[in-house]
Amino acid sequence: MNKPVLLIADDDPQVLAAVRRDLRSRYREHYTVLSAASGDEALSTARELKSRGEALALVICDQRMPGLQGNEVLARSREIFPLARRVLLTAYSDIEAAVKAINEAHLDHYLSKPWDPPEERLFPVIDDLLDAWQAAYLPEARGLRLIGHQWSPRSHAIKDFLASSLIPYRWLDVGRDPDTRALLDAAGASAEDLPVLLFEDGFALRNPEPRQVAERLGRSLSAAFDVYDLAIVGAGPAGLAAAVYGASEGLRTLLLDRHAPGGQAGSSSRIENYLGFPAGVSGSELTRRALTQAQRLGAEFLAPLEGTGVSIDGGYKRLTVAGSREVVTRTMLVATGMIYRELPAPGMAEHTGAGVYYGVATTEASAFSDRRVLVVGGGNSAGQGAMHLARYAKDVQIVVRRDGLRDTMSHYLIHQIEQTPNIRVRPRTEIACVEGDGHVERVALTSLDDGVSRVEEADAVFVFIGTRPRTDWLPPAVLRDAKGFVVTGRELMVAAAYPRVWKEKREPLLLETSVPGVFAAGDVRAGAMNRVASAVGEGSMVVRLAHEYLALT
Ligand SMILES: Cc1cc2nc3c(=O)[nH]c(=O)nc-3n(C[C@H](O)[C@H](O)[C@H](O)COP(=O)(O)OP(=O)(O)OC[C@H]3O[C@@H](n4cnc5c(N)ncnc54)[C@H](O)[C@@H]3O)c2cc1C
Repeated sequence: MNKPVLLIADDDPQVLAAVRRDLRSRYREHYTVLSAASGDEALSTARELKSRGEALALVICDQRMPGLQGNEVLARSREIFPLARRVLLTAYSDIEAAVKAINEAHLDHYLSKPWDPPEERLFPVIDDLLDAWQAAYLPEARGLRLIGHQWSPRSHAIKDFLASSLIPYRWLDVGRDPDTRALLDAAGASAEDLPVLLFEDGFALRNPEPRQVAERLGRSLSAAFDVYDLAIVGAGPAGLAAAVYGASEGLRTLLLDRHAPGGQAGSSSRIENYLGFPAGVSGSELTRRALTQAQRLGAEFLAPLEGTGVSIDGGYKRLTVAGSREVVTRTMLVATGMIYRELPAPGMAEHTGAGVYYGVATTEASAFSDRRVLVVGGGNSAGQGAMHLARYAKDVQIVVRRDGLRDTMSHYLIHQIEQTPNIRVRPRTEIACVEGDGHVERVALTSLDDGVSRVEEADAVFVFIGTRPRTDWLPPAVLRDAKGFVVTGRELMVAAAYPRVWKEKREPLLLETSVPGVFAAGDVRAGAMNRVASAVGEGSMVVRLAHEYLALT
């Protein structure tokens, strides 16, 4: 297999030569640098690479060229190589156009000319983009292959685990892919074993649990130390931020998650409002960066591992963990976030994982190419899910009980939805029931105006409504509000149970729960803001508070 390609397109021979020289000087060992003098030439090079089975990692394109403009070339190159990172090269005076192109064509970055010195202004950007590409790219003949039925909840669970754990894999649907039979025969597996996960060395895991997959991939599932300074339960944005700060400030830090890193944010196709990412950032990319950072600084990460309870033993907290030994820690952070409530309409439960999905548009979207899907919910997560699904499905309908999206969704998403021809909003409508033979085929929708239900064809329902905190695993000593969210800080002092549970002479610290030294941050906390940035902020703050607590004990 040849080296992956970095492709540059510019009609100005001097600029083209300069970019080529700089890229070759740094990347030639691992990448081939190719250049094109026009947008058309760049696209025909990309098509040729595709037909030869080669990989394109990055396209850099000047915005102003005769014929096709840079943003058009980049948008079209995505159709040929969806994973390739795309960078627009602009003059300083064109930055406004570049930002517009980022929004409309979803580019990864823009670079303004000149980029000297490249060590400061070019290489860090390209390094970052290539790291992201490497994380998502899987060479054709290598890596993990998952064989299963598209409509099997078990297959969905493994797909979701692999995708959330940032493990690249190739999905092979027995119903569609003719090669699967031969692969299963070679592995000595049969249809009853599905889903089957094939490893590069020929080993096959039959109908595995996520935990077996993690073990087979060599991931440790037990804590390395006897005692930790900070144990963090939940590796969403709040937990990841606490792990970064905890490890960087010298605390022996353990982070664990029942599923995989990233939490709800990890399932987001594009977070547009997180500081520092002008082109938006996918949840998986943000997660990859945060986890790498936390681990580089020394935090230990274990998943899938579920916290199931906590008890207090003097100054220590004993965290019980499903299927593993107890973790002893001096401080603890509850960052277990929230999940979507199940929609109670008839047929929803039977089809969960077989056309009904909760908050996971990214894992399954490509399976719904040219199909009809419904998105239930009017919040930002539903809007992002619909935008992502619209890249594949022929028809996406957003079903909401309200009059529209105005009161519940950010303006930028409403605007994007209005500009996307294959998305329709169905206001004042609810799902009455879901039907199908082994998978979703039809959905009855009821109009809230006349109460009439109509059955329509649909291949999937993605649900993004109604959330509940993940706090059932906590002991009663950790006070919660009526909806189950963990109460922290001064808010505790107005709770009726406060005098009974809080026995310290001091007041609870900000973000401290009713159990001294146990903190809560992010969406699991009563009064949380339900944003990535606020979860990250609270997770970071907890480390400072943990130091304060440790100094008191
Ligand atoms: C699709 C989608 C799109 C979104 N888009 C945006 C956006 O664009 N901008 C924005 O600001 N916000 C967005 N949000 C909201 C944002 O993602 C959340 O506010 C944020 O993720 C909350 O972070 P958290 O760490 O508190 O909890 P979560 O992200 O919910 O993470 C909690 C973690 O805890 C783990 N866990 C739960 N119970 C246990 C247990 N017992 N043991 C071990 N681990 C456990 C879970 O597996 C999970 O990984 C979006 C949410 C969704 C679902």
